[in-house]
Amino acid sequence: MRHASRIITAALPALFLAAHAGSLLLAAQTATRLSFGWLIAAPVLAAFACLWRAWKDGPEGWLPTGLAMLLWAGGMASTMIATLFFGIIHEDQLSMLLYVLYGVPLIFALASPEDEHWRVRLVDAALAAALGYLYYIHVDKLMPDTGAPSHEMAALLRMFDIENLYVALFAFMRFRARTGQRAPFFRAITVYAVAYLLCAGYINHFQSAAAYGGWTDLLIDLPFALLAWHALGAGYRQGLGPAANAQALARIVRAGGPLLIPASLLTVSALLVSYDPVIAISGCIAASLGYGLRTMLVQLRNFEEQDELARLSHVDALTGIANRRRFDEVLAREWARRRQSTGQLALLMVDIDHFKQLNDQFGHAVGDERLRSVAVVLAACARRDSDLVARYGGEEFAAILTGIEPQDAAVIAERMRASVEALALPSGAEPGAGAAVVTISIGLACAQVADGEVAALVAAADTALYDAKRGGRNRVARRHAAHLRPVETPPSADGRAA
Ligand code: GH3
Ligand code: MG
Ligand code: MG
Repeated sequence: MRHASRIITAALPALFLAAHAGSLLLAAQTATRLSFGWLIAAPVLAAFACLWRAWKDGPEGWLPTGLAMLLWAGGMASTMIATLFFGIIHEDQLSMLLYVLYGVPLIFALASPEDEHWRVRLVDAALAAALGYLYYIHVDKLMPDTGAPSHEMAALLRMFDIENLYVALFAFMRFRARTGQRAPFFRAITVYAVAYLLCAGYINHFQSAAAYGGWTDLLIDLPFALLAWHALGAGYRQGLGPAANAQALARIVRAGGPLLIPASLLTVSALLVSYDPVIAISGCIAASLGYGLRTMLVQLRNFEEQDELARLSHVDALTGIANRRRFDEVLAREWARRRQSTGQLALLMVDIDHFKQLNDQFGHAVGDERLRSVAVVLAACARRDSDLVARYGGEEFAAILTGIEPQDAAVIAERMRASVEALALPSGAEPGAGAAVVTISIGLACAQVADGEVAALVAAADTALYDAKRGGRNRVARRHAAHLRPVETPPSADGRAA
């Protein structure tokens, strides 16, 4: 069943063209009337195919394309009415307007990045609307109701050619820079736009005006049939990987893509200069201001994202406290300050006891949860603005306390140790193989004047931590770096500090 429906879908556009050709052949007398029916049906079929795809895959791209097809079908309907009922042999103004307006949603779909902020997209939509208005003025000026004199018609056709070229070129660029999910849309639109460019070019420049009912009508069907074919799924292959070098191209297209709408606006304004200078200048101003506003909005968002990234680059993803990078920066900064002025600097190295055992017993998810709990407690014990508690790596934390007397640093270290123990989190230790609850060991080193390298302070705190581990864990130990000017500290209240 699915197989059969796939064959029908794949054959539908060919059947459509064959039926159109057949009706031209069999009903030569009414060929023009019949042909109009097919010429309206072709974009309507493409519109429904696009809308169906929009409903299945999401509206991005497909919805504006469907709208464009309906505008084009409206243009052809208007041509039919003008030709059959009013005997107008040239294209009428309304059809011209609809044929050219059809490009506006297409240009919007190709130029405005769908993942951009809605405010930026609103500016794109406003610029697209201005483009539509200029198209209207263009058609209105160049094509009075009585029919267009030939040199003005040539100017109109030039505008069509430029519009078609922009759409085809840009569709191709976006297809080449294809990334992920949207690739099938850009392929479909590229095939369509190139076919449309060639067929419209041929019909507009090599065929006598409004000679409907002949074989060239099949050329008009062709791009719509191809689009419908892609949208219905026959030419629709998912999983198209990015093209070679696509990333660099994708970046260029993403950055430069939004230029398409103002560029179209500027082009139509330039074409209008000799017919309506005021509107032409207004179009140029709208294009520049709109693009400037858009750039400003994008830039604002970039700044926000940069700030957020800078913040995230200093945060440990698991625990939410400062990470090692932040720790290194703050320590280097504080050390440099100590060189210029005196003042205490305390460094605490904290390590969870028997953490491997906890992971083995309860699993890494519980281990992670314990890391978070310990981080919260440590941060709560050092809350002054100048204090920093960071995840140093693995199950190790570090704290930098500035402007603090050594005995006060020892009190804070002891408070950290006691607070973690007081959480009474099961450690998973076998009876007799360590404490039943999660505990930490802390190495503390203090410096008053920074003479040597900061590494000496870190090494002193590390050694102190090692002392604490060797001394039985769940305790605070203190050391002085060899060439730091030592700071004598009394033992902490409960005498745990070594
Ligand atoms: P000690 O008391 O001597 O410090 O013993 P320990 O078991 O805590 O020390 P060891 O260095 O042997 O083990 C540290 C463990 O921490 C090993 C590693 O699997 C675990 N670990 C490191 N980072 C993470 C993490 O992000 N999440 C979890 N769940 N475990 C981690
Ligand atoms: Mg460790
Ligand atoms: Mg440990």
